[in-house]
Amino acid sequence: MKRIALLGATGSIGRQAQEIIAAHPGLELCAAASGSRAVDGLAPLTQVGGDLTELLERAEPDLVLNAVVGFAGLPATLWALEGGVDLALANKESLVAAGELALEAQRRGGGRLIPVDSEHSAAFQCLEARPPEQVHSLVLTASGGPFRDQTRDELSDVTPEEALAHPTWSMGPKITVDSATLANKGLELIEAHFLFGLPYEQIDVVVHPSSIVHALVRFRDGASLAHLGYPDMRVPISFALTYPERSATPISPLDLAAGMTLEFYAPDVDTFPLLALAREAGVRGGSAPCVFNAANEVAVAAFLERRLPFLGIAEVVEETLATADTSAARDLDDLITANADARRLAEGTLKVA
Ligand code: NAD
Ligand code: MG
Repeated sequence: MKRIALLGATGSIGRQAQEIIAAHPGLELCAAASGSRAVDGLAPLTQVGGDLTELLERAEPDLVLNAVVGFAGLPATLWALEGGVDLALANKESLVAAGELALEAQRRGGGRLIPVDSEHSAAFQCLEARPPEQVHSLVLTASGGPFRDQTRDELSDVTPEEALAHPTWSMGPKITVDSATLANKGLELIEAHFLFGLPYEQIDVVVHPSSIVHALVRFRDGASLAHLGYPDMRVPISFALTYPERSATPISPLDLAAGMTLEFYAPDVDTFPLLALAREAGVRGGSAPCVFNAANEVAVAAFLERRLPFLGIAEVVEETLATADTSAARDLDDLITANADARRLAEGTLKVA
């Protein structure tokens, strides 16, 4: 029996994970946590808010599924990696903010880090732990979000309701807005850099509206492997929870004869500058990815509260990155300070706007 601690149990990923765990006789919940909604009765140990590492200490799980949203997921990520406990990671923000610290913790702890993000689960499967030198490049696909064919002018007055209507994926509000701005693909670019040890120039992004191909790896011998499937997060969640077993799920196999066409094109980084800003932050290194993430979290919250227009999200992130100290963090405390400072700077630019 694999004992799972589910963090972010009430969210979009958390609820789908509950479904997978309930249907699998070899998986059980030993702990469940959320940020504010009740989780009573979901697992022998539960917690709402507070320090998630305390819950993890008591639960002694075999695997942690971190499906918390935002920087708040970081202590749990580091706890699992440091302690050699297998980590199924949906909380991309923690790896983006703390990439180097997380990898160091994993080297010391020695547990598995299995991505849940669909593109990274796909790339993980195509790569099969092959060394980076065999890889020519990795391609992450983006649906393009609800505004993919729109011009900057048309985006000036979009509402939170419009941004929350994603064409292919049903997800929590923060990642849905990130998908509409392409910040999500920017976070994923940085996430992929740390997960697979590839330099940024070897990671490309293409828009693929139907979200059937999740990632593609081009190898040095000219062969490319792609990972395909209907857009349904239960597939990568199940893969991560049951790795390396690849258990059955209720999702249908792909039906190519139904007349499927696969379209790909280059992203429009002028209309969606957050993708380019994320790449710059990644290349700059140090705590720049943490600053990118912090400013984006502040800006997305402000947009959802109608305190900031849609196009203002990228402006807040750009201004924060231009003024913040992005020197490298030595430890978690440094990173918590970098995150708090960047949030304060971002809030400051909101007041001016
Ligand atoms: P969501 O908003 O639906 O759920 C977030 C969960 O985190 C909730 O259970 C909430 O209570 C919990 N939470 C928030 N703050 C917390 C805190 N301080 N302590 C404990 N719990 C806290 O979000 P989601 O869509 O499920 O996304 C979760 C994570 O997975 C995000 O990092 C997202 O980027 C990533 N992800 C989601 C999807 C998806 O399809 N939803 C796909 C890929 C990656
Ligand atoms: Mg994704």
